[in-house]
Amino acid sequence: MIGIMGGTFDPIHIGHLRTALEIAESCGMEQIRIIPGRVPPHRPQPKASAEQRWEMVNLAIAGEPLFQADRRELERLGNSYTVDTLSSLRDDLGSKIPLAFILGMDAFLAFRSWHRWQDIMRLAHLVVMNRPGYVPDPNDWYGELLAQTTCELSTTAAGRVTFLSVTSLEISATNIREACKNNKSIRFLVPDEVYEYIQEHHLYN
Ligand code: ATP
Repeated sequence: MIGIMGGTFDPIHIGHLRTALEIAESCGMEQIRIIPGRVPPHRPQPKASAEQRWEMVNLAIAGEPLFQADRRELERLGNSYTVDTLSSLRDDLGSKIPLAFILGMDAFLAFRSWHRWQDIMRLAHLVVMNRPGYVPDPNDWYGELLAQTTCELSTTAAGRVTFLSVTSLEISATNIREACKNNKSIRFLVPDEVYEYIQEHHLYN
């Protein structure tokens, strides 16, 4: 099974990396693809350029063979829709291999506003991880799904939703950018190599 983590990664931080690693270990995933988006459809434009975000992703995952960075959203024109990304992964990997799209609770709570969200669920499983500050509402559309906490996803290629518990890390790229702007240290919130890159390129000042 391959895990897929999409995002703006402006910048990539320990909250992305540690949680994805835990999910991969508990589900026995053979790989996690980190796929930075070019133009995010649901949010303001990133502060760092696409190439800078790409370079930071690569610095962050260097030396961890479980992670692989994937450029496909950066190469595609227009909005970076997850449904298009998953279709293109299916073209490369075939219809049989289980794919698990990993997302935080914040992203999941807005999931039904995503472009062709039903098709996303036909292309991959959804693995939702807890994130501090985002509490699911049992009366919402996904209420009955909340009981699904199994990692047994590899018997089908797509279509299941599961909620998995990871170490709660109250880290966001927004807070990191804000700290940089206020001349506060972001050391240990991002990998050292990313910290040095941000310093060197005066990002987010
Ligand atoms: P921003 O603050 O700029 O919105 P972010 O920190 O939320 O950024 P994204 O690149 O937007 O990072 O997130 C990519 C994916 O990682 C999303 O699915 C998001 O829910 C998840 N994620 C990010 N940070 C955490 C965290 N600390 N814990 C769990 N999931 C996270």
